[in-house]
Amino acid sequence: MRRYSAFAIAREALRHHQGWERAWRSPEPKKRYKVIVIGAGGHGLATAYYLGKNHGIRDIAVLDKGWLGGGNTGRNTTIIRSNYLQDPSAAIYEKARSLYETFSLDLNYNGMFSPRGVLMLAQTHHEVRGYQRTAHANALQGVETEFVGPERVKEIVPIINIEGPRYPVLGGLWQPRGGTARHDAIAWGYARACSGMGMDIIQKCAVTGVRSEGGKVTGVTTTRGDIDCEKLAIVVAGHSGHLADMAGFRLPIESVALQALVSEPIKPCMDCVVMANTVHGYMSQSDKGEMVIGGGADGHNNYTQRGSFLHVEETVRALVETFPMISRLKMLRQWGGIVDMTGDRSPILSKTPLGNCFINCGWGTGGFKAIPGSGWAMAELVAKGEPGPLAAEFGLDRFREGRFIDESVAAGVAH
Ligand SMILES: Cc1cc2nc3c(=O)[nH]c(=O)nc-3n(C[C@H](O)[C@H](O)[C@H](O)COP(=O)(O)OP(=O)(O)OC[C@H]3O[C@@H](n4cnc5c(N)ncnc54)[C@H](O)[C@@H]3O)c2cc1C
Repeated sequence: MRRYSAFAIAREALRHHQGWERAWRSPEPKKRYKVIVIGAGGHGLATAYYLGKNHGIRDIAVLDKGWLGGGNTGRNTTIIRSNYLQDPSAAIYEKARSLYETFSLDLNYNGMFSPRGVLMLAQTHHEVRGYQRTAHANALQGVETEFVGPERVKEIVPIINIEGPRYPVLGGLWQPRGGTARHDAIAWGYARACSGMGMDIIQKCAVTGVRSEGGKVTGVTTTRGDIDCEKLAIVVAGHSGHLADMAGFRLPIESVALQALVSEPIKPCMDCVVMANTVHGYMSQSDKGEMVIGGGADGHNNYTQRGSFLHVEETVRALVETFPMISRLKMLRQWGGIVDMTGDRSPILSKTPLGNCFINCGWGTGGFKAIPGSGWAMAELVAKGEPGPLAAEFGLDRFREGRFIDESVAAGVAH
């Protein structure tokens, strides 16, 4: 794999861009791999990447029923932050955030990480106390956040109305090194690096069955034939329940659609991410100038990957008091993705009842920000067969034992 560089751009400019090689190969599946990762979203690709980079395992196939990055990874609003309340969450999300900082250099691929700052508005007295508590917890965890008053909020976001009649802005939790990244670029960067290490990324290859013998997985049945493996990693977000069913175990997961929309592009007017959790809406401005707006998850379980008018209306109505300028915007597009929600709103990185099968899911509405940290921790779990420090608390056992990692305030609606 040839490195991208300023020199390469100049060279290709001189020869009409004829010399770029494909970013990743599209190989035919082999009969057998050491590890199969199901799901070529960000988490699956990052798992494969860190298996290769950190553990030297490169005989890997990443299978996807669609195209890589076509699930939630390519549908999310890309908010990155690590201001969670509980220690295990802060640890894995902060690891991910710090890996985002060096993603472009590490992978020689521009992930467009933009640490523009994330502000979570406190619009009720309950939220003020909750976010103050989170700021104290973050200080102990080594995560840089600060509770700021309404005047500082107005300084950070001049277009905001802090004196709304229903929900005045009483303050906010500010994480200056949070931000956004380019979702496709994260998937593509990992895919290119995996392919460069000799791994096979096989698209349009749906897994339809998991074959096992004596409590161990022997391989998978796919729309492109049977493939054997020594270890299996299931990383399919909203489809986790289906895959677990194929493997013969159950998960405490509900799948629901989460929707988002973007406006027409406008001139730069907001250079940070703002989340308004009381009213269920959040907004940032893309590099193209569109206002990227996200709302809450559907109130009923479903597998719908498209948007609905109800959500556009609900979300915009909720935000317009705080951001009066959006009443003048035309909305361009809306879409949805299937997110995988656990009861405590924390992820699952776990061994399963099948000895050599591991699962990574439950990131719900907020897993984009976790991709590098999740891949790092999942790779360790798959390589060693036991979770390392980042994944130790996120096992399936916690639901049986009542050791919940309650992040319903930090992650229930907000991303
Ligand atoms: C509208 C929306 C906004 C969001 N906003 C944010 C945000 O701002 N910040 C944030 O941190 N998170 C956000 N999220 C959540 C985030 O997108 C997800 O948590 C994250 O992308 C999950 O990544 P993944 O790799 O696990 O799943 P996915 O990207 O969904 O990948 C799973 C892959 O598995 C494949 N697959 C499924 N079944 C099979 C099968 N049988 N065989 C083979 N392949 C299969 C799918 O095709 C898919 O490509 C948002 C989600 C949505 C929908």
